[in-house]
Amino acid sequence: MAKAKKKVKVIKIDVDKCNGCRACEVICSAFHATPKYSSNNPARSRIRLIREPIRDVYLPVYAGEHAVAECMGRDKYVIDGKEYDECDFCRSACPSRDAFKEPDSGLPLKCDMCESDPPLEKPMCVQWCLNDALIYEEREEEVEEEAAPEEVEIGLEALASKHGLQKIIDAVARMSNKD
Ligand code: SF4
Ligand code: SF4
Repeated sequence: MAKAKKKVKVIKIDVDKCNGCRACEVICSAFHATPKYSSNNPARSRIRLIREPIRDVYLPVYAGEHAVAECMGRDKYVIDGKEYDECDFCRSACPSRDAFKEPDSGLPLKCDMCESDPPLEKPMCVQWCLNDALIYEEREEEVEEEAAPEEVEIGLEALASKHGLQKIIDAVARMSNKD
């Protein structure tokens, strides 16, 4: 298979610097509102904060690919004496929890690194994190070329797993029969 260069964008997270202010959640949801900045709702943010002040746990996690089924094996992590719950580090919208799902439709949310035209120098959450807990990095990697699933495919897959494939097919058939 042919090799291609791919730019990989990463947000490195320094949990020791996060104070749980939630500015990242606010700006992410505002930046992705339609129209832009018309509202903010952390439930629509593509970065979520695991926040447990009593245990001194402040863990920002940004959304990755969604998972159609919940995983079977889960792990607990103890880092610097702090115990993190089984799903804390997971970046997926999955059937077992509400994180990274659009609250009205239930569709999965995924970080798009604030893609915009013209491009931003740094993603919005990184710009708004005054404590430097979020560090933006870019690097180039060689990858095998393969077609990435379209965003619409990802959305349809999520709807099909929620409502059943037949219901989605019926709805599309009804819509295409409308004048
Ligand atoms: S903006 Fe920075 S310090 Fe505030 S919650 Fe997000 S990651 Fe933590
Ligand atoms: S990079 Fe942009 S889309 Fe991703 S979590 Fe941060 S603000 Fe949201």
